[in-house]
Amino acid sequence: MRGLRASAVALMLLVTTFVGAQPSTSAVAGPTDPEPASLVTLSVPDIAAMDRLVAAGADLTERVRPQADGSIQVDAVVTPSQLEALRPLGATLASDAPAPAATRAKGKGGGAEDQVVIERAVWFKSRDGYFLSVEASSSAAQAATLTVTWRGKKHSTGQAEMVAYVDAGAYLGHQLSTPVPADQQPQSVTVTSADGGKADAKVKPWPDGDRPDKRDRGYQTDFITQYMTPAQLNERIRALHRQFPKLTDLITLPYKTNGYRRHAQAVVGAPPAAAVVVTSNAYGSEGGNDLSVELVDPGTAAGPLRVSLDGKLITVSLATDDSGAVVSTAAQVAAAVNATPGLPVKASVYRTDPGAGVMAPVPATQLDDFLSAPADVSREPAEVLALRVGVHRDGSRTGVLAYAQEHAREWVTPLVSIEAAERLLRNYDTDKATRRLLERSDVFIVPVVNPDGANYSFYDYNSQRKNMTNHCPPAQSDPALRNQWGVDVNRNYAAGSVHDGYVGGSTNCQSGTYGGPAEHSEPESRNVMWLAERYSNIKFAMNIHSYGGYFMWPPGAYQADGRVSLPRPTAKEEKFFLDSARTIEEAIVAERGTVIWPQQTGPVTDVLYSAAGNSADELWYDHGIYGWDFEVGADLWNPETRRWEGVGFQPPFEEGHQEAMEFAAGLISLIGIAADHRDR
Ligand SMILES: [Zn+2]
Repeated sequence: MRGLRASAVALMLLVTTFVGAQPSTSAVAGPTDPEPASLVTLSVPDIAAMDRLVAAGADLTERVRPQADGSIQVDAVVTPSQLEALRPLGATLASDAPAPAATRAKGKGGGAEDQVVIERAVWFKSRDGYFLSVEASSSAAQAATLTVTWRGKKHSTGQAEMVAYVDAGAYLGHQLSTPVPADQQPQSVTVTSADGGKADAKVKPWPDGDRPDKRDRGYQTDFITQYMTPAQLNERIRALHRQFPKLTDLITLPYKTNGYRRHAQAVVGAPPAAAVVVTSNAYGSEGGNDLSVELVDPGTAAGPLRVSLDGKLITVSLATDDSGAVVSTAAQVAAAVNATPGLPVKASVYRTDPGAGVMAPVPATQLDDFLSAPADVSREPAEVLALRVGVHRDGSRTGVLAYAQEHAREWVTPLVSIEAAERLLRNYDTDKATRRLLERSDVFIVPVVNPDGANYSFYDYNSQRKNMTNHCPPAQSDPALRNQWGVDVNRNYAAGSVHDGYVGGSTNCQSGTYGGPAEHSEPESRNVMWLAERYSNIKFAMNIHSYGGYFMWPPGAYQADGRVSLPRPTAKEEKFFLDSARTIEEAIVAERGTVIWPQQTGPVTDVLYSAAGNSADELWYDHGIYGWDFEVGADLWNPETRRWEGVGFQPPFEEGHQEAMEFAAGLISLIGIAADHRDR
């Protein structure tokens, strides 16, 4: 008990990690500079508050960690002003959260003894030793104070307090907030309630699935040497196709993305008042960046407001009154620009200016698309590629779709898919188990679903989650907001979407979980569904994300009204999801001893949060495809502090490399399940 309490306190005091903030080039932010964002750990008082963050469209990561005092910590990418907006919903920086209360309520007091049931008690051995995970429930529901005592080999023993889970008023049971360390393998547990209830159970091993296939000698692994940009990823799978033409096809998906490109912009005037945003009609790379705009004082009395174009220079001659003072307001300037035929730009009043501010002269200011990638990074609409791997690529074998980097900042995820492809192809000649996989399955690998966002994450803003297509109206489209534009590709699908009233997608174009103007509005999501429709032999899909160490399946969303989730799979299907997960998790463990926690293995809505319009749900509900989600990047146990620590979206490559190795093994295990699959 003491140990867990102490580690919870330590977590509260954990110094907030700042990762991914764009390096600031100047000390003073100008009107075109985005507010810097940081990856922080937020604390909310309970699951209901957590659900409010999801509903508000906060840019949450998938790392959600219940705490021993019943509060929840979740990593999120926020700017200072976004953090302020989340505070009324109950969010604080975890480093600022008050320490948990020193004592807990000791039961209802004076009542009858409660009934305690142990739902699951499992141990696992990771590379850091033994850990215990227990789930139980009490007839006294959340009022119960439950304590776990375990006994293990060599007379080892220990104790930890459990946490009650209450979501939308419903009591979901008690858990240990995270797996707790044990000196030896735990063998039995007793859960005791402060109200007198008690239950005993044997502790079972986890994940305890089928062991990975034996590999023949010389089995090759480790083909990843660095994080890779979309261009490098595409080149890698093209190279694999060239080298293994008999085992692969290269499929160009039908929908090109909008491209790594933006319109060029300038903010002229004096924000927050008397300012106008000028935006080129052409993309920056197609001439927009060459344009300039100036506001001039004509130097005459009673001059008219006039707009002219000379080559690449737009000149706005401001109106003057009888005394010769300039009098044009921002609204008048914007209207005059937009009313001038043949101009290569549009203008709008700056978002904080009601339009009434009088504009002052501004020297010629060049427009800019604010994109920093070198010129050899294509600004054209991007092709999204799939590598099809298998001996019989004719629809006769069970298909597996593995697709990565729907979320741009998740740099490890494409590496998982590339490493798996390399292992399949390079071991085909020499490894019997691999040969069997390629004989019996038909694998479709999409390393990067969202290449535009990925480029933006590499070159401009590494916390970018969404694609690059801006659907915001002019008032939300000045360049300082550019890091908040885009559609969350994994909220743009058609099953259980925000447009259908499900929770976890946003209709706000600036939200981290913006679901887009309509289902399938984005080419990135249409490409994934095109594969499912075009290749009806696909029965399994793995949607590869990071980070947090989860293994999940449908349902992935519930409705705001009544918290009604998409239909649960049948008991038989759920058993197949879980049994397969345990087998796949064995393959992950085998690489470096990373264990995906039992409480993070299950349906998305049970183990994470509602994610309206995600792709796995559409694959499952609309196509009958077993749709899984990996969250690669499990927490690392810090033996010094005795706590679990998150790895982030872009860990040092050494760690990202290890994550790619272990989840590639997991993906190959899924292909093994597909190879054994018979339609039932
Ligand atoms: Zn993701």
